[in-house]
Amino acid sequence: MKLIDDYNRVIDYVRISVTDRCNLRCRYCVDGDFPFIPHTEVLSYEEIIRFVRICASMGVNKVRLTGGEPLTRKGLPHLLKQLGAIEGITDISLTTNGVLLADHLEELKEAGLKRINISLDTLRKDRFAWITCVDAFDRVIDGIKKASYAGLNPIKINTVIIKDFNDDEILDFVRIARKWDHEVRFIEFMPFGDMSLWKSSEIITSGQIEEVIRREFELIPSMKRGKGPARVYDIGGGSGRIGFISPVSSHICAECNRIRLTSQGMIRPCLFSDVEYNVKALLRSGKSDEEVKEFIRGVVKVKPERKLEMGAIRKCQRSLRNIGG
Ligand code: SAM
Repeated sequence: MKLIDDYNRVIDYVRISVTDRCNLRCRYCVDGDFPFIPHTEVLSYEEIIRFVRICASMGVNKVRLTGGEPLTRKGLPHLLKQLGAIEGITDISLTTNGVLLADHLEELKEAGLKRINISLDTLRKDRFAWITCVDAFDRVIDGIKKASYAGLNPIKINTVIIKDFNDDEILDFVRIARKWDHEVRFIEFMPFGDMSLWKSSEIITSGQIEEVIRREFELIPSMKRGKGPARVYDIGGGSGRIGFISPVSSHICAECNRIRLTSQGMIRPCLFSDVEYNVKALLRSGKSDEEVKEFIRGVVKVKPERKLEMGAIRKCQRSLRNIGG
């Protein structure tokens, strides 16, 4: 039987944070003194594989591995391969900051990775070092190029646009999407991490980004848009695409088909709600697959219908690196 919530949404997608650790310290993402979860509290690969197997038996077919930085966890290609072998799982992808990508590309491809999302908030080397507190711009660009040569196309580059941070680079990102023939997706800044930077009145919305782009470029709704929440456009007169993901300014909740599994083993049915459910306790206390299944069903049933309005959104208690961005 499929996983269906009380609002008739079919849940067929699980996003998994495999670690809360990250090799970057992005100013807008890091919160406070950045304590890590002890290793023993993080779900083991065996636990993650069992969770996905149980979800797959209820119709989940898509898995995304994220973090923290997933490539900082040892043996990630092994996890990918094991997940890919689960009956019913047809789509596995990875979200990474790209710093370690070039080093692991061969293994990842061998393990069956077909698609990748790479986060990049600036095209300027000095600004990259300032935003992330690490001088790794060249490694990320190298990772993107190698991923492209390796055939992981189309590569999606995720860019969070923040006022007075990188909003002067919007058009540069469109140019790079054309030049590299990749898809650049502009993601609205959400209320996680450093809240001194996040004020709903100052958020740059997808609408505002689109307005800036349309002054220079023609945007044509793309035939290549997937099932996800992005509005995707081809760029007139050239290759590449751009997408807008608007979790803050618009309600994409009616189409939400996902749940999240945090690195600590909590199921989070809605990104914007801090209510989480401890599946690790079941996985570690000898419960049967049937019992875990019932638990997941119960969690999906209470998935909130929709998030709060933009002005009423509060800071989420957990950081995005922990939940899984
Ligand atoms: N380390 C991986 C990466 O960089 O892609 C995966 C985890 S990271 C938390 C995933 C994405 O979340 C990144 O693209 C990052 O820019 C984004 N992110 C972090 N904090 C955010 C926020 N407050 N609003 C919107 N996106 C955010």
